[in-house]
Amino acid sequence: MTHSALPRVLVVGSGIAGLSTAWALTRRGFAVEVFEQGQVPNAKASSYDEHRITRHAYGTFDGYARMMPDAFRVYEDLWADLGVRHFEPLPLVVLKREDVPWFDASRASMDELDVAHRDIPLGEVASRYPMLETEGLTGAYEAEGAGVLFPIRILTDLVVHLAGRGVRFHAGARVDAVDPETATVRVGAATHRGDVLVVAAGAWVDRLVPRLKGVAVPSRQAVAFVAPPPDLAEAWSRAPVFIDLGLASGTYTLPPRPGTRLKVGDHEFTRRGDPDGDRLATDEDVARLFAAAALSYRDFDRYGVLERKACFYTVTEDESFIAEAIGARGYVLSACSGHGFKLGALMGEGVARVIAGERTRDELPHWAAGRRA
Ligand SMILES: Cc1cc2nc3c(=O)[nH]c(=O)nc-3n(C[C@H](O)[C@H](O)[C@H](O)COP(=O)(O)OP(=O)(O)OC[C@H]3O[C@@H](n4cnc5c(N)ncnc54)[C@H](O)[C@@H]3O)c2cc1C
Repeated sequence: MTHSALPRVLVVGSGIAGLSTAWALTRRGFAVEVFEQGQVPNAKASSYDEHRITRHAYGTFDGYARMMPDAFRVYEDLWADLGVRHFEPLPLVVLKREDVPWFDASRASMDELDVAHRDIPLGEVASRYPMLETEGLTGAYEAEGAGVLFPIRILTDLVVHLAGRGVRFHAGARVDAVDPETATVRVGAATHRGDVLVVAAGAWVDRLVPRLKGVAVPSRQAVAFVAPPPDLAEAWSRAPVFIDLGLASGTYTLPPRPGTRLKVGDHEFTRRGDPDGDRLATDEDVARLFAAAALSYRDFDRYGVLERKACFYTVTEDESFIAEAIGARGYVLSACSGHGFKLGALMGEGVARVIAGERTRDELPHWAAGRRA
């Protein structure tokens, strides 16, 4: 057992979920150890990337839309602790090419939350955003309460901050098994025991928590970092975040910001692949993405491809997150389905609250799934 006044918590995973849980626990005085199979942070984690979108516009997930003010607030607390703000507010422009509920549902929940948004007349789209393909556009709006989070900087600064607050990091420590009844983890021949265990193992979570096999399904996803043609570079330098709801799979796009490249991804889940496998995206990986990008962007074939990357996250059936008690002393947290970074810090805070006795274990799954209890 521990010599400190509060219990010792073992956290598996140094992505945004694990590190945020460690951060929220450390703020409450807990002793924390983090086990990470790769380097800390790990470039293979879902969380490790140049940028991530954050937004109040949340389509039909109005439960998550309602959590976004809290999600923004928790990140503000994090910036205060880190002494630096790894977030840039940017407008979000949502484009519609066929009728999908996401478009109007987002506007309704933003009205409820008092988040400003305004329609963009279709006749103005080409002059405001010369990179966009306007053919087939049937609607467009611009929303506030959005922007870009910078995950590599966030993870790196969190690690430095937490190490300074006494969190012990075990890098290159692949946890082979966990026992949530005794809060123990096994790494090779070594067994580590804490008082509480949190498994935040991203796309590998079902290997440690068998109940999640087939529930949180690893999904290989392609993204591309691209360089726009020179005549569009200036327009891209002042571009918003774009979500194009399709035809086909649609795209999401993060504009180049200082220290980041222009990145485009698509909305379709593959629900296949091995997160330990090769991360260079194949032609097959990017085929659908490039086809979708050619529908979103004019002259997409003139863009230079800088990197094709295969990434992983888990996907649940209804795209909700999992946070729940396992065994007598354990918790599992999977902020998944491709939308968990913006809510990652809040999810870590939520798990820490339960461990600290500020919220009951029973409330946790509903809350994390974005449902009212
Ligand atoms: C291409 C892409 C685009 C995305 N875009 C957005 C976006 O725009 N906005 C948004 O909000 N979200 C987005 N997401 C989702 C978001 O990034 C993820 O939901 C979030 O990062 C998940 O964090 P995590 O900590 O749960 O998992 P991870 O970041 O994967 O962390 C899990 C960690 O656990 C470690 N681990 C696993 N097993 C073990 C073990 N046995 N022993 C030790 N360590 C272990 C892993 O190495 C890893 O470091 C995107 C994700 C991807 C991949």
